[in-house]
Amino acid sequence: MSLTQADLHGALAERGALLQGHFRLSSGRHSDRFVQKFRILEDPVLLERVARELADRFRSLEPTIVVGAAVGGILLAYEVARQLGTKAIFVEKVNGVPVLRRGFTLRPDDRALLVEDVLTTGQSMRETIDVVRATGASIVGLGVIVSRADPVTLSVSKGDRIGNTVALLDLPLQSYDEAECPQCRAGEPLTDPGSRRA
Ligand SMILES: [Zn+2]
Repeated sequence: MSLTQADLHGALAERGALLQGHFRLSSGRHSDRFVQKFRILEDPVLLERVARELADRFRSLEPTIVVGAAVGGILLAYEVARQLGTKAIFVEKVNGVPVLRRGFTLRPDDRALLVEDVLTTGQSMRETIDVVRATGASIVGLGVIVSRADPVTLSVSKGDRIGNTVALLDLPLQSYDEAECPQCRAGEPLTDPGSRRA
């Protein structure tokens, strides 16, 4: 049984993953909504369903390995790979630079499926793409649980389009520069829920 956008939205709402308030996103921009991805990642039953849906969408492209970005992507890549019967590896940062460590390797004939839990600015996904490309491996697709990006961002990097991008749930982002944020202007207290820190 496939997982529809409505199913996923309902599951996230039920688990308190769709927060409303005044948030500083990892990009530094402000938004009145935030998706707490760990409400998905902490729940193996939901994560298994989500990962199966992503795996099903990409199986025909015959990925040979699944690549995520630490920390959330470790869990997601593992479960998608388990469904596909491939390995799962992850990109992590050393002194702010995204790299493959722990003896993880990609071969030039690998067909990598890249996965991300919540895509907002696409920065983390672009970094993962660069790391994978540098190994000579090809990228067969990008699988995302929740996209808060506009379609331009979802094409991930200009002049570097990857055709097979799947987002299971689209929740387009409305965000503001701090200087233009209406909630700042109204004096609402700011929450800083993001996980990425420079
Ligand atoms: Zn603000």
